[in-house]
Amino acid sequence: MREFPLLIIGAGPAGLSTALHLLQIDPGWADRMVVLERAAHPRHKLCGGGVTRLGLHYLRGLGLPEPLPIPQAEVRDARFIYRDRTVHVRGRPEFVVFHRQEFDAYLARTARERGVRILENVRVRAIRVAADGAVVETDAGDFHARAVVGADGSRGVSRGHLAKSGDRRKSSPARVARLLEVVQPAEPEAPQFSGAFARFDFTPAAGELQGYTWDFPARVAGAPHHNRGVFDARISPGRPRADLPGLLDRALAGEPPGPDGAKIEGHPIHWFSPRCRLSGDRLVLAGDAAGAEPLFGEGIAPALGYGQIAARAVADAFAAEDYSFKDYKRRVLASELGRYLLLRWWVAWWSYRLSDRPWFMRIMWTIGKGMTALTNRIGE
Ligand SMILES: Cc1cc2nc3c(=O)[nH]c(=O)nc-3n(C[C@H](O)[C@H](O)[C@H](O)COP(=O)(O)OP(=O)(O)OC[C@H]3O[C@@H](n4cnc5c(N)ncnc54)[C@H](O)[C@@H]3O)c2cc1C
Repeated sequence: MREFPLLIIGAGPAGLSTALHLLQIDPGWADRMVVLERAAHPRHKLCGGGVTRLGLHYLRGLGLPEPLPIPQAEVRDARFIYRDRTVHVRGRPEFVVFHRQEFDAYLARTARERGVRILENVRVRAIRVAADGAVVETDAGDFHARAVVGADGSRGVSRGHLAKSGDRRKSSPARVARLLEVVQPAEPEAPQFSGAFARFDFTPAAGELQGYTWDFPARVAGAPHHNRGVFDARISPGRPRADLPGLLDRALAGEPPGPDGAKIEGHPIHWFSPRCRLSGDRLVLAGDAAGAEPLFGEGIAPALGYGQIAARAVADAFAAEDYSFKDYKRRVLASELGRYLLLRWWVAWWSYRLSDRPWFMRIMWTIGKGMTALTNRIGE
């Protein structure tokens, strides 16, 4: 059995952010931790790739160059559409779109250059917690650690471990959003690129969709592409299910996936709720394992933010030799990220219960227009 003080499961934004933040706290962590990743970078990752200003703030805090030295498309005008109404949220940039496999590979390369050990093609199968530490079973043998960071995404083993080890009466509902996405080549002169805009169309929320369809400008290996998809939060479980393939078809009207190899793919996102369990004995969750925000399904900035909080919690646990992580949820909720997640969860909880009522959406868009009249001037 191999022995490391700390194991991080998953080399996505959450796991790599945790490792990079630990190195900022103390470069000596390079010898005390290892990241286990079931794939090998650059690996395929279904994602819109939109990194908001909050995410850019965390990247800056890690001392990464701005802009990052990888292909990207800037969005300076995020258009929120409901029927004939549009709210423009402007910033320079409002968010940046990366091709996720390039973004994650860049983060992994940077982490390695700074001394982080990443073991790729190692799939974690189970976690067992004993009195003297945690045993992580993988298809490359067992690892023993004093603590584990579960950053293995929405369908990871860590969250499953917490659900199994918790009080069954308190076991949480699934809290899972559904998404479909397609990435297609775009003409360089497509208006999304010259106008640096992205569209979030909430018109289908008048029906069964608890979400929106999106259309982002993207660059894949530098070449212009459209990243399009549909997000269904499913935060109000009593409402009927939306027909996601049908909605995406309509959103792609005139440009269905063709012989260029683009295909529609789907993936769930586990979203944050203040009732979620975020830690257990010897284990803290970060990123989608803990929960993305349920209003837009934004998870990259939260993953980077969870990494910062998890790193501090781990460093304090080792200093105190107390691996219960009992105050981890309080730390998350009291942080900048916690306030962001709580606000989005609260707005999503209300708005996706009322989004099929046109009067409610009209009020939301009127409020949005009023707010952006002030904030757009500051953002530009
Ligand atoms: C279609 C779609 C579009 C999206 N668009 C956006 C967007 O535009 N902006 C945004 O902010 N968010 C978006 N998201 C959400 C975003 O992708 C996630 O929130 C983000 O990837 C979370 O990062 P993470 O590090 O927690 O998890 P992940 O990125 O999923 O990384 C987890 C890592 O763990 C590894 N892993 C998993 N299981 C194991 C195991 N058993 N053993 C070892 N390794 C394992 C995986 O290979 C992976 O590398 C989108 C999601 C989807 C599905």
